[in-house]
Amino acid sequence: MVSKSHKKGFDNKVTPVDKKSVHLPAGLWIDIEDIGDEGLNVDFIKNPSYFDFRDRNFKIVKDVTINCTLARCDGDIYLNGKFSTVVELACSRCLDNFTDEISAEFSGEYLPEKGESSSKEELELMESDLNVSYYTGDNIDILPTVRDQILLSISIKPLCKENCLGLCPHCGQNLNISKCNCKEDDIDERLAVLKKLKIVQV
Ligand SMILES: [Zn+2]
Ligand SMILES: [Zn+2]
Repeated sequence: MVSKSHKKGFDNKVTPVDKKSVHLPAGLWIDIEDIGDEGLNVDFIKNPSYFDFRDRNFKIVKDVTINCTLARCDGDIYLNGKFSTVVELACSRCLDNFTDEISAEFSGEYLPEKGESSSKEELELMESDLNVSYYTGDNIDILPTVRDQILLSISIKPLCKENCLGLCPHCGQNLNISKCNCKEDDIDERLAVLKKLKIVQV
């Protein structure tokens, strides 16, 4: 429970007793000291509102579950993780909203940020490797990695179902729900010939 006294305490000048009480910005923070010789398993369950995905073509509609395994070699941290959640999307064919389960496994590497000694070439090389992130201090934030993974799991052309019939290009009727009458009226010329033949035969 977030009480008013907590906020008051934050406003007052309180000297942190241990470093874990230091306020970090919003993120999925892991204290690298917690990663022992056998590694560390961490689970996070986050409310959809935690991920700031405004102005996107989807909406997270279920808590995001994240399982992480971390290993450490001196200052280098290796992450293996997976996430799962449910998103609401608009079908790219029929424009109807539908929900879809998404999940993915991912990995990443966190290296201590080097000082100004890094050469320009070295920095360019680092930036080209998308799975590598750099950190300063005693904590790493895996939120950017998880955010990227969620974005990568969203189809650019989402479909409510593989055989979605889409909308009628003439009247806009959702053809998954019912047929429209356009096909009869908009008969193509080859079929029109058949129709005439039929009339002649009768
Ligand atoms: Zn559809
Ligand atoms: Zn139609």
